[in-house]
Amino acid sequence: MAEEVNIPYIKENIIRCLCPTCPVQQNSICAREKMLNIQEILQGDKDPQSDDFPGMYCSNGKAVCEDIDTDKDCVCPDCAVYNENGLDKAKPDFLYCKDGRAKK
Ligand code: SF4
Ligand code: SF4
Repeated sequence: MAEEVNIPYIKENIIRCLCPTCPVQQNSICAREKMLNIQEILQGDKDPQSDDFPGMYCSNGKAVCEDIDTDKDCVCPDCAVYNENGLDKAKPDFLYCKDGRAKK
């Protein structure tokens, strides 16, 4: 059975995640609303919680926002977190917001 890739849900990775700039989420009001609080969360002392940020789906699994358009192109392969964790060899190898977290 495929094992989940352990991609830490930490601020260092959140700030490098490209999901907020992805065409899939471009018109998502839900994703935009989540981004309103993200600076405060990143600058605070608490660890971010899984649904705080509209991204890191390779780590956390599918998006909770339902108003995303998964017919558009995923930009994960351009992401530093993606390349650092060898996600080109993961299953799925993109569109984690739709298909769930990365496994190998
Ligand atoms: S997982 Fe890929 S398709 Fe989904 S929002 Fe992130 S970059 Fe876009
Ligand atoms: S690989 Fe995709 S989901 Fe994972 S951190 Fe990068 S842009 Fe976000």
